Amino acid sequence: MKELIISNLKQVHQRIENACSISGRDVSDVQLLLATKTVSAESIKIAVEAGETLIGENKMQELRDKNQILKELPIERHFIGHLQTNKVKDVLKYANCIQSLDRLSLAQELDKQLQRENRQLDVYIQVNTSFEESKFGLAPNDVLPFLHQIKKIKTLNIKGLMTIGLLDVEKEKMKPSLRLLREIRDEIYTDNTLELNDLKLSMGMSQDLELAIAEGSNVVRIGTSIFGNRFLGKEIWNENITE
Ligand SMILES: *Cc1c(COP(=O)(O)O)cnc(C)c1O
Repeated sequence: MKELIISNLKQVHQRIENACSISGRDVSDVQLLLATKTVSAESIKIAVEAGETLIGENKMQELRDKNQILKELPIERHFIGHLQTNKVKDVLKYANCIQSLDRLSLAQELDKQLQRENRQLDVYIQVNTSFEESKFGLAPNDVLPFLHQIKKIKTLNIKGLMTIGLLDVEKEKMKPSLRLLREIRDEIYTDNTLELNDLKLSMGMSQDLELAIAEGSNVVRIGTSIFGNRFLGKEIWNENITE
């Protein structure tokens, strides 16, 4: 298991390097986030000991269950799954960043709790760039109005945009949903009243890592290529469904 994870990690870093060099980007511009849903804390620890520093979990339950081991590790923990408003308080115990902010009620609930704890939180806005009903995230056209609403919330540091994108066997079909996230970011930059700059793009998974880097990704979220197949049902995006 250990050897496999380490050699998979090497391959993934190699893929990132190749993709960066093809599109003339600096490797330091692209961070690897380990998507660790269903992965044991022991396996995560192996990856961290090999030098990884960033993980993303999809479910509150898993964050809690693995906390005993993960809290000792020098890593940043992001929440990348659909987050129910009633789990905000719990998630804040374990996560440094929420990448799946997708609605005003969630932003307000986060704000309420963060104010109580007298702290701030990094967030990414999740956008549904593939227009699939099964995916969470704001509709592309709603992103700017949403940012205008939440920019007044001082407890939230808006770090970037996140998308899952369209997963398809055909590369050409996946591209537009990745490119769209970058276009939305560019549109945000042209709105001076938002005063947002240096936004990161979190996109690219095992299947579309190279495409995502070509389209400007700054955070690739990789699970399967590192830890193997998950044998999960189809509801992996949904925090509401507990197994
Ligand atoms: C599982 C997951 C990933 C990683 O997907 P793989 O195909 O296993 O690399 C990335 N982002 C999110 C939000 C995920 O839930």
